[in-house]
Amino acid sequence: MTGTPLPLITSAYLAYTAGLLAGFSGFGWIAVVAAAIAFAAALFRTRADHSALALVFAAAVIIAAATPPPERPTLHQKNRQPPTDLLSRVRARAARSIDRTFGEDAPLARALLIADQHQIPTEMRDRYAAAGLIHMLSISGLHVAVIAAAMELLFQVARMSRRASLLGAFIATGVYVAVIGAPPPALRSAAMLGVSMASRLSQRPTSPWAAWALGAFVPLVQPRVAVDVGYQLSVLGMCALVAAGALWRKHLANRLDGWKGKLGRELVTSVVACAVTAPLVAWVFGRVSLIAPLSNLVAAPVITLAQPILFLAMLVSPFGALARFVAQAAHPLLFAFDWIAWAAASLPGAAITVTTTLVTAVLGALAAVALVVACCSRFPARPAVAGLAALAGMAVFPALPMARSDRVELHVLDVGQGDAILLRTNGGHWVLLDAGPAWRGGDAGRTTVLPYLLRRGGSLDAFVLSHPHTDHVGGAASVLTAMRPRAYWDAAFAGGSDAYIASLAAARQQGIEWHRVHPGDSIRIDGVVVSFLAPDSAWTVGLKDPNLASTIAVVRYGVVRFLLVGDAERAEEDWLLAHHHDELRAQVLKVGHHGSSTSSSDAFLDAVRPDLALISVGAGNMYGHPSNDVLHALSRVGAEILRTDEAGTIIVSTDGVHIDVETKGDKWELVPDSSKH
Ligand SMILES: [Zn+2]
Repeated sequence: MTGTPLPLITSAYLAYTAGLLAGFSGFGWIAVVAAAIAFAAALFRTRADHSALALVFAAAVIIAAATPPPERPTLHQKNRQPPTDLLSRVRARAARSIDRTFGEDAPLARALLIADQHQIPTEMRDRYAAAGLIHMLSISGLHVAVIAAAMELLFQVARMSRRASLLGAFIATGVYVAVIGAPPPALRSAAMLGVSMASRLSQRPTSPWAAWALGAFVPLVQPRVAVDVGYQLSVLGMCALVAAGALWRKHLANRLDGWKGKLGRELVTSVVACAVTAPLVAWVFGRVSLIAPLSNLVAAPVITLAQPILFLAMLVSPFGALARFVAQAAHPLLFAFDWIAWAAASLPGAAITVTTTLVTAVLGALAAVALVVACCSRFPARPAVAGLAALAGMAVFPALPMARSDRVELHVLDVGQGDAILLRTNGGHWVLLDAGPAWRGGDAGRTTVLPYLLRRGGSLDAFVLSHPHTDHVGGAASVLTAMRPRAYWDAAFAGGSDAYIASLAAARQQGIEWHRVHPGDSIRIDGVVVSFLAPDSAWTVGLKDPNLASTIAVVRYGVVRFLLVGDAERAEEDWLLAHHHDELRAQVLKVGHHGSSTSSSDAFLDAVRPDLALISVGAGNMYGHPSNDVLHALSRVGAEILRTDEAGTIIVSTDGVHIDVETKGDKWELVPDSSKH
């Protein structure tokens, strides 16, 4: 490595931040040109790395400061524009050919080949987080490098010269990124790999940090990428890989050799990778994996074998039978990879569940940065002490109090197939309506709801259950035990899942008051009123299906109304139309039963006339939710539709008059269709 690493790493971080700023300001392309020129200079004058990065940093900051923020598009416009650009079309085509070729392996193949994790179910994500393998599901330098190395080897076996093989691998990497429509994590990795290959071809040594920082500039072109957890993991994973390499060369390489050296190097890499990504994984997934260094050691060779085969299957996908044959060859490897995740996650003590606040997350991130610096520095003592201090601070600092805001927020959490909805009052108090699904060995309360709630701060005042099916009550026991709300509201439908019984037991244990929902009851917290329209006990007494006894809640703040209907189906909708017709009108509707065709009758939607319809649904769920008929019916009444399987967690906020909608860091004002009022 050239230069002293500390200022180089610092300037890479600064350049990355500046890149984000410039990207969000909407004029990222100017910075891209400046960056390209500066990095070209850095490539050919290795010693100039620092000054090049500093130049880019300064340029990007000036651009960011001088640029007005882009206009906020309305949700209306956003939904009317299908993705028509070339890359999106290429990406969609690659996704379709993967689905055709890989069958049941498609969700994993999509994640590993085209950086699309949409189809990975929540419980699978939780398992990979517990096993410490979640970063392997997002394309990092590892995946692209494996493909490039396999190509290089192939060309060498074909008796091409070293130089020609390298050039061939370089081109193959470019082809790979182009064929999959250049998803940001792959583009970033390929850019980094391309730089190091170019430096090998031209025999000019380049600092790996310069290559890393170059890859980190993708957000300049696509700013939204910066909030994508797959991209973040990819950046951190590569950073850890470079740091581990430096640590190995400096302190360990000459002490171990032969197989011990190989194993030692792998172990150092996986320990550093897990430690560096741990704060982010804890923040997003609520897990710190203790088994991670070992599971990575076992899983890495499997991925190394699987990745080139997956790539090959995708390359030959125009020849259906051949592609399926190659895909079947990859199946045992993918199965083994998944099995390692399962086995590692099921070991006792494999992972600890953590709840991060903003302060602990920042301290964790500082510790991770200190670790990277300590790995690379000639004087590791100081950063090591700083890192330990940050870790010690994590134990001392309690949750950060929330900044007061007078807006009321409805958070429809992405919990896969199920419902979990958080209501935040204007005073920072929370009400939870349903707690998401449970699965063997885990539940969405622990993996999604609690981390989400705790990092925002504030107290949980009440829990409201729509009905006792596992996809709604699965996470309840975990949340009730950890947050101890004052009240548990429930329609008390006789019978129910194990998770329902566990939630009642947890409430009893924690001394939480249990209330039976009656139409006309309401909860008032700060300026928000949650009133219940159903179910009526005379109505529920003859019912067999708990869906039809769903708790129906109207949230009111100012003139804004949210209607939340659990899994109510047509029969209950008819009951509501007969008894509460005039109270159904709402700007925002949480669509019944995950968009199933058994719900959302025309008469009901005509009474509600929502401007925004929210569907909480799992990607590729086995029920085929949401139904096309329901989507059409919602469009017919003029509702914009947002689904958690596409948009992730959806946040709707209001000051009592205006309504804003936020998904994946994008925010719009909901402009009602004026013809309806
Ligand atoms: Zn449900």
